[in-house]
Amino acid sequence: MTNNDIIEIKQLLETPKRIVIVPHKNPDGDAIGSTLGLYHYLIAKRHDVVVITPNDYPSFLKWISGEETIIQHESEVIKSKALIENAELIFTLDFNALNRTGGMKPELVKAKAIKILIDHHPQPEDYAKYVYSDISICSTSQMVYHFLEMLDDIKAINKAIATCLYVGIMTDTGSFRFASTTSTTHRVVADLIDKGANNAEIHDNVYDKNSYARLQLLGRALNNLKVFQRHKTAYISLSQDELNQFNFKKGDTEGIVNYGLSIENVVFAAIFIEHKKEGIVKISFRSKGDFDVNAFARNHFNGGGHINAAGGRSELSLIETLDKFISILPNYNKDLK
Ligand code: 5GP
Ligand code: MN
Repeated sequence: MTNNDIIEIKQLLETPKRIVIVPHKNPDGDAIGSTLGLYHYLIAKRHDVVVITPNDYPSFLKWISGEETIIQHESEVIKSKALIENAELIFTLDFNALNRTGGMKPELVKAKAIKILIDHHPQPEDYAKYVYSDISICSTSQMVYHFLEMLDDIKAINKAIATCLYVGIMTDTGSFRFASTTSTTHRVVADLIDKGANNAEIHDNVYDKNSYARLQLLGRALNNLKVFQRHKTAYISLSQDELNQFNFKKGDTEGIVNYGLSIENVVFAAIFIEHKKEGIVKISFRSKGDFDVNAFARNHFNGGGHINAAGGRSELSLIETLDKFISILPNYNKDLK
């Protein structure tokens, strides 16, 4: 984002605008935190703002202030379509390619609005007039903080904005422990706490509202964990039957993939989750160091993400998907040693 871009964006935001903010499909803590953080900022500046998510998001995010105003495209298509058509500005947050918005893509492509992209994924598509892309930053929520810094408006950060951005930074950094967490991240987070984010309460709301069934599902997942010491790889699978048995709800499997990486010497972890209704296996990949799971997901499982965290999907059966994964590993002998 150039100085001139900032000047132009400041001018655009000087008068009230109709604004739509969009995160990626299956929004996570950073997607919801960054969009709602920006929402609260723009609302305070007297714009007409709405966050439209492609679909539903986990209940551990359903306490955040402003969350109740979110429109889900999947369940309110006509309303979403009209809002997107009439928008003057569209912010797209926490994704790098319009197909990450699922069914919203055609509407976003057609929209006349000026688009502003804020995101930390590699290789952003070229659809926005203004692009703020930085893959070195841990989360889009931290980027929204820097965006407000560029607008010279850090002073506008209130408790609601601080809380949202804290949620996004906390969830995308695994509570400030991943390598993407920098001293700047800590300085930003310190300032968010000063501005009203209640760190202990936020952590409790996101991580400590588990159901008994969710912990039992975690137990099953850990039982299913397989380790290939030779390839420094660990993976977990969960079948649809297992999900049903433990009363699976959206978000219940979030974070489970990281357990594989906690094993000594393991640098590559995956989780395979069967979604019978959609006919796919949803996959998450995580790594430590330079093993590039973004490339792995792109090359083999129609996905993408970051170097150390990516996702993908397979239309094969669960068993066939696992077989495919295992058969690919020897090709990476050089990188996984
Ligand atoms: P998760 O494994 O938590 O679903 O996603 C990890 C990272 O990979 C996130 O940054 C997410 O945006 C990205 N990601 C997940 N699934 C996909 C996918 O199907 N395609 C692409 N391009 N990125 C994905
Ligand atoms: Mn993110």
